[in-house]
Amino acid sequence: MRRLILFDLDNTLFDPASFRAQIFSKFAEIIDKEKKAEIVAFCQHLYDEQIKAFGVFNPERFIHSLTAKLHKGKIETLLAVVFAQDTLKDHFHSDSVETIKKLKNKAIIGILSQGEEKLQRAKLASIIHHFHPSHIHIPENKKKEMREILQRYEEYKIIFVDDMLPMLFEAKKNRPGIKTVWIKRGRYALLQQPIKGFTPDATISSLTELEKIVER
Ligand SMILES: [Mg+2]
Repeated sequence: MRRLILFDLDNTLFDPASFRAQIFSKFAEIIDKEKKAEIVAFCQHLYDEQIKAFGVFNPERFIHSLTAKLHKGKIETLLAVVFAQDTLKDHFHSDSVETIKKLKNKAIIGILSQGEEKLQRAKLASIIHHFHPSHIHIPENKKKEMREILQRYEEYKIIFVDDMLPMLFEAKKNRPGIKTVWIKRGRYALLQQPIKGFTPDATISSLTELEKIVER
Protein backbone atom coordinates (compact mmCIF):
# COMPACT_ATOMS: atom_id res chain seq x y z
CA MET A 1 0.00 0.00 0.00
CA ARG A 2 1.32 3.45 -0.90
CA ARG A 3 2.04 5.74 1.98
CA LEU A 4 0.80 9.34 2.04
CA ILE A 5 1.74 11.99 4.58
CA LEU A 6 -0.64 14.94 4.71
CA PHE A 7 0.76 18.02 6.42
CA ASP A 8 -1.29 20.84 7.79
CA LEU A 9 0.40 24.21 7.09
CA ASP A 10 -0.12 26.78 9.88
CA ASN A 11 1.68 25.86 13.10
CA THR A 12 2.61 22.51 11.60
CA LEU A 13 5.06 23.63 8.90
CA PHE A 14 4.64 27.40 9.01
CA ASP A 15 4.75 29.75 11.99
CA PRO A 16 1.81 32.12 11.46
CA ALA A 17 2.36 33.99 14.74
CA SER A 18 5.90 35.11 13.84
CA PHE A 19 4.71 35.95 10.31
CA ARG A 20 1.88 38.09 11.68
CA ALA A 21 4.18 39.84 14.14
CA GLN A 22 6.44 40.83 11.25
CA ILE A 23 3.75 42.01 8.84
CA PHE A 24 1.83 43.91 11.53
CA SER A 25 5.01 45.69 12.49
CA LYS A 26 5.65 46.58 8.83
CA PHE A 27 2.05 47.79 8.45
CA ALA A 28 2.52 50.09 11.45
CA GLU A 29 5.76 51.50 10.06
CA ILE A 30 4.04 52.27 6.77
CA ILE A 31 0.87 53.70 8.31
CA ASP A 32 2.28 55.75 11.19
CA LYS A 33 5.70 55.14 12.77
CA GLU A 34 4.83 57.31 15.76
CA LYS A 35 1.96 55.05 16.76
CA LYS A 36 3.62 51.73 16.09
CA ALA A 37 2.68 49.83 19.27
CA GLU A 38 -0.89 51.04 19.08
CA ILE A 39 -1.31 50.00 15.44
CA VAL A 40 0.28 46.59 15.99
CA ALA A 41 -2.11 45.96 18.90
CA PHE A 42 -5.02 47.09 16.77
CA CYS A 43 -3.96 44.72 13.95
CA GLN A 44 -3.88 41.80 16.38
CA HIS A 45 -7.32 42.73 17.70
CA LEU A 46 -8.73 43.00 14.17
CA TYR A 47 -7.13 39.68 13.27
CA ASP A 48 -8.77 37.91 16.24
CA GLU A 49 -12.10 39.50 15.38
CA GLN A 50 -11.92 38.33 11.75
CA ILE A 51 -10.84 34.80 12.65
CA LYS A 52 -13.82 34.59 14.97
CA ALA A 53 -16.18 35.85 12.29
CA PHE A 54 -14.82 34.11 9.18
CA GLY A 55 -12.58 31.27 10.37
CA VAL A 56 -9.71 32.24 8.04
CA PHE A 57 -7.38 35.21 7.59
CA ASN A 58 -8.10 36.83 4.27
CA PRO A 59 -5.43 39.52 3.65
CA GLU A 60 -7.61 41.61 1.32
CA ARG A 61 -10.53 41.68 3.71
CA PHE A 62 -8.18 42.43 6.61
CA ILE A 63 -6.40 45.31 4.88
CA HIS A 64 -9.60 46.85 3.56
CA SER A 65 -10.98 46.86 7.07
CA LEU A 66 -7.73 48.13 8.61
CA THR A 67 -7.32 51.08 6.25
CA ALA A 68 -11.02 51.97 6.54
CA LYS A 69 -10.90 52.00 10.34
CA LEU A 70 -7.64 53.96 10.59
CA HIS A 71 -8.43 56.22 7.62
CA LYS A 72 -4.83 55.66 6.60
CA GLY A 73 -2.67 53.31 4.56
CA LYS A 74 -2.65 52.27 0.92
CA ILE A 75 -4.28 48.92 0.25
CA GLU A 76 -1.84 47.88 -2.50
CA THR A 77 1.24 48.77 -0.45
CA LEU A 78 0.05 46.77 2.56
CA LEU A 79 -0.98 43.81 0.42
CA ALA A 80 2.51 43.73 -1.07
CA VAL A 81 3.89 43.37 2.47
CA VAL A 82 1.77 40.25 3.05
CA PHE A 83 2.71 38.57 -0.20
CA ALA A 84 6.46 39.39 -0.20
CA GLN A 85 8.27 36.08 -0.72
CA ASP A 86 11.34 37.38 1.13
CA THR A 87 9.23 37.56 4.27
CA LEU A 88 7.06 34.48 3.75
CA LYS A 89 9.93 32.08 3.21
CA ASP A 90 11.49 33.00 6.57
CA HIS A 91 8.56 31.85 8.67
CA PHE A 92 8.69 28.11 8.24
CA HIS A 93 9.48 26.28 11.45
CA SER A 94 13.17 25.38 11.44
CA ASP A 95 12.46 21.62 11.21
CA SER A 96 9.99 21.81 8.31
CA VAL A 97 12.07 21.87 5.14
CA GLU A 98 14.55 19.30 6.40
CA THR A 99 11.72 16.93 7.38
CA ILE A 100 9.94 17.31 4.05
CA LYS A 101 13.14 16.57 2.14
CA LYS A 102 13.72 13.41 4.16
CA LEU A 103 10.15 12.14 4.11
CA LYS A 104 9.48 12.70 0.44
CA ASN A 105 11.82 9.77 -0.23
CA LYS A 106 9.78 7.52 2.04
CA ALA A 107 6.22 8.55 1.16
CA ILE A 108 4.08 10.70 -1.07
CA ILE A 109 3.70 14.02 0.68
CA GLY A 110 0.78 16.39 0.52
CA ILE A 111 -0.80 19.41 2.15
CA LEU A 112 -4.17 19.58 3.87
CA SER A 113 -4.49 23.12 5.13
CA GLN A 114 -7.41 25.34 5.93
CA GLY A 115 -7.16 28.92 4.76
CA GLU A 116 -7.55 31.53 2.09
CA GLU A 117 -6.07 29.81 -0.93
CA LYS A 118 -4.06 32.71 -2.37
CA LEU A 119 -2.28 33.34 0.93
CA GLN A 120 -1.68 29.64 1.70
CA ARG A 121 -0.19 29.14 -1.77
CA ALA A 122 2.04 32.19 -1.30
CA LYS A 123 3.28 30.69 2.00
CA LEU A 124 4.01 27.41 0.24
CA ALA A 125 5.75 28.96 -2.78
CA SER A 126 9.32 28.41 -1.58
CA ILE A 127 8.75 24.70 -0.84
CA ILE A 128 6.05 23.83 -3.36
CA HIS A 129 8.44 21.98 -5.67
CA HIS A 130 8.60 19.17 -3.08
CA PHE A 131 4.88 18.43 -3.59
CA HIS A 132 2.85 17.11 -6.50
CA PRO A 133 0.08 19.63 -7.35
CA SER A 134 -2.67 17.03 -7.02
CA HIS A 135 -1.78 16.44 -3.36
CA ILE A 136 -2.19 20.06 -2.25
CA HIS A 137 -5.58 20.67 -0.66
CA ILE A 138 -6.57 24.08 0.71
CA PRO A 139 -10.24 24.15 1.66
CA GLU A 140 -11.71 27.16 3.48
CA ASN A 141 -13.52 24.73 5.77
CA LYS A 142 -11.28 21.74 6.36
CA LYS A 143 -13.61 19.86 8.69
CA LYS A 144 -16.42 20.02 6.18
CA GLU A 145 -14.35 18.91 3.20
CA MET A 146 -12.16 16.37 4.96
CA ARG A 147 -14.26 13.33 4.08
CA GLU A 148 -14.31 14.13 0.37
CA ILE A 149 -10.56 14.78 0.29
CA LEU A 150 -9.66 11.62 2.21
CA GLN A 151 -11.92 9.55 -0.05
CA ARG A 152 -9.55 10.30 -2.93
CA TYR A 153 -6.88 8.31 -1.11
CA GLU A 154 -8.63 5.04 -0.47
CA GLU A 155 -5.66 3.10 -1.80
CA TYR A 156 -3.23 4.83 0.53
CA LYS A 157 -2.00 4.36 4.03
CA ILE A 158 -2.41 7.90 5.41
CA ILE A 159 -0.47 9.75 8.07
CA PHE A 160 -1.99 13.12 8.95
CA VAL A 161 0.00 15.73 10.87
CA ASP A 162 -1.84 18.70 12.38
CA ASP A 163 -1.61 21.05 15.38
CA MET A 164 -5.38 21.04 15.85
CA LEU A 165 -6.78 18.10 17.75
CA PRO A 166 -10.35 18.54 16.41
CA MET A 167 -8.99 18.18 12.84
CA LEU A 168 -7.23 14.94 13.72
CA PHE A 169 -10.39 13.69 15.40
CA GLU A 170 -12.43 14.54 12.30
CA ALA A 171 -9.97 12.66 10.09
CA LYS A 172 -10.11 9.62 12.38
CA LYS A 173 -13.91 9.62 12.31
CA ASN A 174 -13.86 9.58 8.52
CA ARG A 175 -11.00 7.12 8.15
CA PRO A 176 -10.43 4.99 11.26
CA GLY A 177 -7.31 3.49 9.67
CA ILE A 178 -5.54 6.83 9.41
CA LYS A 179 -2.52 7.51 11.59
CA THR A 180 -3.05 10.84 13.39
CA VAL A 181 -0.03 12.81 14.56
CA TRP A 182 -0.56 15.81 16.80
CA ILE A 183 2.18 18.40 16.64
CA LYS A 184 1.81 20.30 19.81
CA ARG A 185 2.89 23.84 18.97
CA GLY A 186 1.19 27.16 18.35
CA ARG A 187 -1.62 28.91 20.18
CA TYR A 188 -4.34 26.33 19.44
CA ALA A 189 -2.41 23.26 20.55
CA LEU A 190 -1.23 24.90 23.75
CA LEU A 191 -4.78 25.86 24.78
CA GLN A 192 -6.35 22.58 23.69
CA GLN A 193 -8.48 20.66 26.18
CA PRO A 194 -8.57 16.85 25.80
CA ILE A 195 -11.25 15.44 23.50
CA LYS A 196 -13.24 12.72 25.24
CA GLY A 197 -12.83 9.39 23.50
CA PHE A 198 -10.02 10.50 21.21
CA THR A 199 -6.27 10.22 21.60
CA PRO A 200 -4.05 10.87 18.59
CA ASP A 201 -1.86 7.95 17.48
CA ALA A 202 1.23 10.02 18.23
CA THR A 203 1.99 13.37 19.86
CA ILE A 204 5.17 15.22 18.95
CA SER A 205 6.71 18.60 19.67
CA SER A 206 9.02 18.69 16.66
CA LEU A 207 8.73 17.36 13.12
CA THR A 208 12.10 15.63 13.52
CA GLU A 209 10.19 12.99 15.53
CA LEU A 210 8.07 12.16 12.51
CA GLU A 211 10.54 9.99 10.62
CA LYS A 212 10.43 7.13 13.08
CA ILE A 213 6.62 7.34 13.32
CA VAL A 214 6.30 7.04 9.54
CA GLU A 215 8.51 3.97 9.50
CA ARG A 216 6.61 2.27 12.30
MG1 LIG B 1 -2.64 24.31 11.81
